[in-house]
Amino acid sequence: MAKPLEYNATLAERIDVTDALSIFRVEPDQKPAERPWFIPGQYCVLGMNNAEKPELGSVRRSMSIASAPEDEGATEFYVRFVSKPESENPLTHLLWKLKTGDRMYMRPVAAGNFTVKDSVELTDKRLRVMVAAGTGSAPFLSMVRSEVRRNPAVDLSQWVLLHGASYSADLGYRDELMRMVDRNRLKYWGSVSRPKEDPTWRGDTGRVEGFFDGGRLEDLERRLGLSPGGFNPNNVVVFICGLTGTITGTIIPLLDRGFVPDFKRIREALGVPTEVKPTVFYEQYDTEPVINIKDEAVVGPLKARMQAGLATL
Ligand SMILES: Cc1cc2nc3c(=O)[nH]c(=O)nc-3n(C[C@H](O)[C@H](O)[C@H](O)COP(=O)(O)OP(=O)(O)OC[C@H]3O[C@@H](n4cnc5c(N)ncnc54)[C@H](O)[C@@H]3O)c2cc1C
Repeated sequence: MAKPLEYNATLAERIDVTDALSIFRVEPDQKPAERPWFIPGQYCVLGMNNAEKPELGSVRRSMSIASAPEDEGATEFYVRFVSKPESENPLTHLLWKLKTGDRMYMRPVAAGNFTVKDSVELTDKRLRVMVAAGTGSAPFLSMVRSEVRRNPAVDLSQWVLLHGASYSADLGYRDELMRMVDRNRLKYWGSVSRPKEDPTWRGDTGRVEGFFDGGRLEDLERRLGLSPGGFNPNNVVVFICGLTGTITGTIIPLLDRGFVPDFKRIREALGVPTEVKPTVFYEQYDTEPVINIKDEAVVGPLKARMQAGLATL
């Protein structure tokens, strides 16, 4: 049993997007001495003691930071209530009992290397295609918000956000992102996977990774102003965040275009030469294997696709 946490932060604000999606704005007791204290794309650890069942102790989980490092005040997190948890003391079930003013734990240091600077040169001119399902949009919000905080008139046309959710109501931060589309030329498309239950939705439909399937990739190329076949690592780098299904479902079709995942054992299994730089970066919220590299029946065909994809470049 994890020992009780000493609370060091207050829930400054909670915004319920839906019953199962909430924005938590957390104010640590001690403001970080140095600013900026994190890089967009990094995460923090949030924690709670189980007050109703003290015998279960405390629980801590990583959460991507959705606010920008330049923001004054509370740090923002975009969290999904996990209805089928794996542990007997799920953090999200404790978070959902919180109201404004309640105390909690927030590790006052950020961690992680899912940042632009740790992936490509900051001056890299290629399109940055960010693929997210659900709360996986959090690190990408931090990235584009940071750009806008530093220059409200910034041109975000290099940034592309593809965001998937079950229903349009689950496409959190949509109004803010649409403002960035209008004012900053952000390229942003939401996709709804249960359109039959969302009859007023007029945008894209299907799971977000569907943007990379066959003919739909040609459509995405057109929207991005790329020539046919132009969605390749010479013009694009891809960032994915969320659960395994989104990550695997994006990585696999992009092998055919020569995109190399930034994961050493997957690269090795797919026979990528060491000098070839990675062009797909991901942050995974769960622990399922992205590609089962131990299964030759899985890896063999993917290796052939990776090699054919690299040969096209
Ligand atoms: C680096 C990192 C950053 C993360 N950032 C966020 C974030 O910004 N927002 C967020 O909601 N979660 C985020 N997570 C997931 C989070 O850490 C927890 O795993 C999640 O909140 C479930 O914790 P729990 O204690 O409630 O449930 P647990 O009992 O720990 O159950 C974990 C189960 O929940 C599933 N799960 C984890 N995350 C999600 C999710 N978002 N939607 C649906 N199922 C999920 C896992 O597959 C696993 O089966 C992040 C994870 C990592 C590793």
